[in-house]
Formats: sequence, C-alpha cells, structure tokens
Amino acid sequence: MKRSEVDRTKLSPMMQQYMEIKDKYEDSIIFFRLGDFYEMFFDDAILTSRILELTLTGKQAGLEEKVPMCGIPHHAYASYVDELIDKGYKVAICEQLEDPKETKGMVKRDVIQVVTKGTRIDSNIDSKSNNYIANIYDYSYCFGISYADISTGEVYATLVEGESDKVIKEIVRNGFKEVIVNDTIDREIVENLRTNHDILVTITKEELEDSDYNYIYKDIEDERIIKTIKHLLFYIIDTKKGDLHHLQPCKIIKSSMYLEFDVNTKKNLELVETLRNRERQYSLLWLLDKCKTAMGSRYLKNTILNPLTDRKEIERRYDLVSLLSTEFILRDDLIKSLDNVYDLERLVGRVTYGNLNAKDLLQLKNSLKELPKIKTILQGLKFNKKIETFEEVYSLLERTILEDAPFSIHEGHLIKEGYNEELDELKKISSGSKDFILEMEKTEKERTGIKNLKVGFNKVFGYYIEVSKGQCNLVKEEYGYERKQTLANCERFITPVLKEKENIILGAEEKIISLEYKLFMDIREVIKRYVQSLQKTAKIISEIDMLQAFSVVSDTYKFVRPEITKDKTLKLIECRHPVVEQVMKDKYIPNDIVMDKTTNILLITGPNMAGKSTYMRQCAITVIMAQIGCFVPCKSATMPIFDKIFTRIGASDDLVSGESTFMIEMKEANYAISEATENSLILFDELGRGTATYDGMSLAQAILEHIHDKIKAKTMFSTHYHELTILEKNLKQLKNVHVSALEEKGKVIFLHKVKQGAVDKSYGIHVASLAKLPKSLIERADEILNIYEKKNIKKETFTQTSLFELSEAETEPKINPIEEKLEEVNPLEMTPMEALSFLYELKKDIKDQK
Ligand code: ADP
Repeated sequence: MKRSEVDRTKLSPMMQQYMEIKDKYEDSIIFFRLGDFYEMFFDDAILTSRILELTLTGKQAGLEEKVPMCGIPHHAYASYVDELIDKGYKVAICEQLEDPKETKGMVKRDVIQVVTKGTRIDSNIDSKSNNYIANIYDYSYCFGISYADISTGEVYATLVEGESDKVIKEIVRNGFKEVIVNDTIDREIVENLRTNHDILVTITKEELEDSDYNYIYKDIEDERIIKTIKHLLFYIIDTKKGDLHHLQPCKIIKSSMYLEFDVNTKKNLELVETLRNRERQYSLLWLLDKCKTAMGSRYLKNTILNPLTDRKEIERRYDLVSLLSTEFILRDDLIKSLDNVYDLERLVGRVTYGNLNAKDLLQLKNSLKELPKIKTILQGLKFNKKIETFEEVYSLLERTILEDAPFSIHEGHLIKEGYNEELDELKKISSGSKDFILEMEKTEKERTGIKNLKVGFNKVFGYYIEVSKGQCNLVKEEYGYERKQTLANCERFITPVLKEKENIILGAEEKIISLEYKLFMDIREVIKRYVQSLQKTAKIISEIDMLQAFSVVSDTYKFVRPEITKDKTLKLIECRHPVVEQVMKDKYIPNDIVMDKTTNILLITGPNMAGKSTYMRQCAITVIMAQIGCFVPCKSATMPIFDKIFTRIGASDDLVSGESTFMIEMKEANYAISEATENSLILFDELGRGTATYDGMSLAQAILEHIHDKIKAKTMFSTHYHELTILEKNLKQLKNVHVSALEEKGKVIFLHKVKQGAVDKSYGIHVASLAKLPKSLIERADEILNIYEKKNIKKETFTQTSLFELSEAETEPKINPIEEKLEEVNPLEMTPMEALSFLYELKKDIKDQK
C-alpha cells in the first residue's frame, strides 16, 4: 500500500499526524516515536525492513487493509540510524514532545532532527577526519561553494570560476559526502555527483533569512559567497534544529593561498589513503601523523590536502619545526601535555549542540588542565600565537563534576559536594538511608526477637522488612507490620514509620536527580560563553601538534629543511620517496632530481619496473611536504614554491565514467595543459601509451613541445618511446635522464638509479619474463625485437626534427605549399592584375623556401 494512494480522511488521528509530518520530510525515513519504539510506516517500513532485516508487520490505521509497519526499540536506535546513513539515506527522528502520562488525547510529536551523511555527529564519524556538508550555488558563470563541519563548527567558502568539471573536481577532491545545491543548478552536475561519486545531493531553494547566525558571514563582502553560506546554513539549521552557535565565522578560501591539485593527484600520490586498498596505512598522512590529538590529525590531513603557497608562512613553520628539534626537551614536555588533551574542538561542539554528558566535561577539564603548561612551552618556543588557559572554566569543572559521573545525565551522581547547598542537604537526607536501614534493622530485631529479620530497599517496592517463611509466625499484630509482597521463601512487610521515611527519601532522590540535571545544564550554559575562544585555542593546539609531529618525523626519518628559492631552480639531492623508503628500509636507492633555471623538462626513460613513476612521485611528494611546512626526504633540497601540481600516473580507476583509458588520459593531459602555469609541476607518466605507437609518440612530442614553448612548467615526463630522447637536441629546456638497469645472464637487474642522458635499451621483454610469461612467447618476442632493432638503425641515420619523420611509411605524402596555393585559386575568376601579383607572390614563396 502506497502512502500517496491512501484516503486520508479515513485514517486514525495518530496516522494523520504521521502523514502531516512525513509530508514535511518527504526525502527522509521517519523514525516515529510510539512509546518505547520508533515505528516506520508505508514505503519507509518496506525499505527499512529490507535494509535492517526487520520483520514487516501491519498497523490498523482506520483503513480496510493494515498499513505496512516495522519498528525498533527506542534505546537501540542509534546503530540502526547509522546503518541507514551509511547507505546514503536521511533519517528524521520524530519524538513525542509531551509526556503521554500527563496528556489527554494525542501526544504532540515532531521531528527533532534529521540525520544525514554530512550532518552526523555521532561517535561513528572518524575522529581523525573532518565531516563536511557543502553547498554549491551555481551562478552559470561561476560557482559559490561553502562547507561546514558541524562537529567542530568550522565554516569555509570559496568561489570556483570555470566550467562544471571544475566544481565537480573541487567537491570530489575535498571528499564531501553530502552536498546541497540551489534549484537552478545544471542538473548534469547533480547527476554526475550522484552516480559517479556517490554523493548525497539535495536540491533546495531555501536560504536563511537574517537571523542571529549572521555573524557567520557578516564580514564577507562578496554577495555570491554570502548566498552559498545562507543556503548551507538554512539546511544545517533545518536538519539539526538545536543551538548551533558554535558554528564559527566563515573563512574564505582563495585558491592562490594553496597549492592546487585535483583528486587524481591526491589519489595518485597516495596522500591520505593508498590507491589500491584506500587505506590510511602507507599513505603520506600515515607517515607524518605523529600527532597526539585527534584535532592535530585532522589539521594535518587538511594541511596535506591544502599545502601553502605563502613563503613567509612556510618558513615560519620550518623555523618552528627546527626549533622543536633542537629544543627536544621542550618538545618532549609538549608531547606529554598533548597526550592528555582530548578532542577539544568536538567537545566544544557538543557543549552547544548534541548530547553533552559529564564524561565530556571531565575530558574538557583534563584538557584545560594542560593549557598553562602548553602556554609556557609555546612561550619558550616563541610561538607567535597565544593560547588562553581558561582558569575559570577549569575551576568551575573541578569544583562541580564528579570524577566517576555516569554517561547519562538523567540519573544523578553528577555534581560534587560543596557546590550547591540544597543539593548537599538532599544528599544528606538520601544517604541517611543507609544508616537508617541498619539502625532500623537493629531495633526491629530487638523488638520482635526475629533474628534473621532484614530491612531493605529496592527501586520498585521501596522500603521493606523481610522475614523468612519459617519465622513469619513470630510477626505479631501489635508490631504494625503490613504485608507487602510474598516471595518463595520469605515475606516482605512495611510499617507506617518506614512508609514515611520512604516518602522523604524517595522524594529527596527524585529532587536530587532533577536538581543535578539543572545544575549540569547551568554549567553547560556558563561554558557556552567560552565557546569561541575555546575554538581558537583548539586550532592553535592543532597546529602546534602538527608541527611537533613534523619535527618528530623529520628527526626519525632524516628529513632536511628545504631552501626556498625565488628563481626556478629545483635541486633535490638524494631524494627519497618517504613512504616507499619506510617499507623497503635501507634497500631504497636515493636519487637526485635536478632542474636548474634553464631546465624545465626531464624526459625519463628506462625499462618498466625501473622506478620511473616512483621517481616522479617522490618529487611531487617532496614538493607537497615542503609546502606544508615539513622537512623533506632529501640530503639537501632547493626548490621554488609551486602553485599547482598535475599528475597523470598509472592507470585511472575511473571505470564508472565509461570512457576509455586513452580518453581519460587525454582529458587529464588537456586539464593540465590548460591550467598549468610556469610555476606549476607536471608529472606525466607514459603519456600516450593508450594508443597506437606512432599516435602516442606524436602526441607525446606535441605535448612536450607545447609545455616547452608555451607553459614552461617544471615537468617530469616518463616514456618508453626511446625515439623521444632525440628531442633534447631541439628543446633547449629539456634534459634526458634514464633509470638504469643491468643485464646479467639474460636477466635484468634494476638498479633504480637515475642517470643523465637517454637509456640505450628497452627491457620490456625481460620484465615480461619476470612476470613469468611462457618461454616460447618470450623467445618469439625477442625475435621480433631483433627485426625492429635492425630497422631502427636505418631510422637513426637521419637527423630528426619531428617524430613524424621517423617512418616514411607512416607519414602522409607531403604537399608543397605552392601546389596548395595554386589549388586554391581559379584563374578564370582573376583579373589580369590579380593574376600578375599572384605570380609575383609565388615567385617570392619559392625564393623563401630555398
Ligand atoms: P616504473 O614506473 O619504471 O615501471 P615503478 O616506479 O613503478 O617503476 O617502480 C617499480 C618498483 O621498483 C617499485 O615497486 C619499487 O618497489 C621499486 N623501486 C622504485 N624506485 C626505487 C628506488 N629508488 N629504490 C629502490 N626500489 C625502488
């Protein structure tokens, strides 16, 4: 039965209430609170019962047929919600807003929050990564993008100029899982994000009206950016509903502030996860992440994905890294302190929004305790940013929150003695009960002479006097015992005195719980006043945590401080790939990567498996490490600051787009060529191998020439087309290098050593034999190679200016330009004067040609 087909007038009042709520949250699964359960109805029930493996039942709702229904116990809802969110659904939690016991008629219900991929703040989100929700606002000629992490309160915005491809690249590169878009957006963008990148997209035209959240964008002037932020905020506030004032003033990201690279580069260089298994282990992030706090790890991840371009800021970080390494005692103290600092950012987030509990406040307190020590250390390091120490907050928490407080804030046992007189008084009354029980047990035993008489208390029955069955005959009427409960081997009684005491104590206990809750909430309100400054301090701590990690890895792995040059010299001496090196240990062969002012292109030849792509990757990784402010895996390093990195390395895993590898390769090459500047770094690994040899070779040459003449970006270009090495003669800024290999007893030994000049031999067939292809096949390949090599001797005898001249058979018959000109004119249409001047022109052309 479908919800849309139901005659609503026939529905029970509760079902009508459900329908009204569902109308407002069409795209969410409604968890509808009914007593101790959350129930789902209609299509939601059919869907969730299938996904969560719940039994699908039916509910009488006034119609002839039962309405499809399934349910889950309310206390276990979190894991079910998580599962649905992971699968890309939105869940709207609809609560009872009144106590059913105190309400006549139907209980008021409404959605208290919608949980989605990008707005979840539960414990299942990765503590070492930000979870952003983003908005794209399409202005046809450019895009506004804003994004926020609700758990930490960070808000960012930027403008992206250009085609839709660019905005998609930006969204994917940032790893956004959920995006809200304006309703006039190009629908192809929506389709692309949904199908190719599994991003949850919501189309909406709503934007936030002026409100007390305008502090988030009040300092921004660009209306286009304000609009995207307002759209984002509307959605966040509409879904989360609670107090979100921990959201911070928006920071504008200008692309020129950061080293730009796209998602392919992020993947190819394995910056935050490996290409194959998409795991953090063996990524650059994994190697560098010696951060002590989760905030530090998140900061590091963001930094790796957005390295800097500001020389001063980069040098400031180097200074601190080197100072931390020399002042290693201070660094050790810092590490010890950071070890005790919890995730301040997310704790602060929970203070304003979410389920804050006493354990969170204890974590906050323990973190604050370290701040004075950290402050002194930062002063010692002459760190230019100051942290606050929040003594008042610390002392408030120290005076109030019990060390062994439970997770729940509804059961009492939260607040320390001495903070609130009324609470202390109530606690005295309630704790008096233990003494009272003992006292009473003693007097009653004496009064009745029943030796095994016990006085006890339980939550359901309250106070009781327990007498074993065998002794029950000793209970006399004059004692005033009233039978309360019969158990298998004893009877339980109550007396008027006990009843009175019970009322006082139970009353006190109830009061304690509600008073403690109130006090807890008051403390939360006090801390809320410090949210912004706490967030600032948290950011500074994140940064210093990252810098201490840089200092530790630089010492451990022998990284050096790079020298940043203004001219375009790139000189990485004994450079290593820092991750591969850690895996291979001392078997790794360091290599120099040298491109002086006048060299822009390194053409790298060498057999497969020799280490060409590793050589290129280590260059890009070194650049990224340098521009995040870390030392680099070299013996010495001199480099300019790059503005963008482009890579085309290895096979693309973009299987979903349905494009051929070659097409993707060419698109990526085009992207690089159209976006790169003379300050960029381009890495092309075997570009053009996806097509026929001469096609590929010609394209490769044309691309190299274009980069050489027009772009002048620092470029590393690996190829197995030996023929390309001849380009060194004509392209002045191109240098050949090769990765050497030895042939010994018919087998290749890879030396992984990069040397000047071109390689003289391809070892492809040997690599194939290493891969254990059949012997007969390898022998045949060798035979064919011999034939080709003989042909090649002929080729190399003529000087080459273009690869098109490589094989006469492959080139088109040449058309003489004079012939071409003659073809184009019609003498019958020419005046004698025109014919004469044409004749002169031809004569001049012939002279020029000679
Ligand atoms: P290519 O791109 O030339 O086919 P790769 O860069 O993929 O080769 O490297 C092939 C293998 O050689 C890598 O898996 C790595 O283990 C090893 N290798 C590469 N560079 C080095 C090096 N400098 N020192 C030691 N081993 C290396």
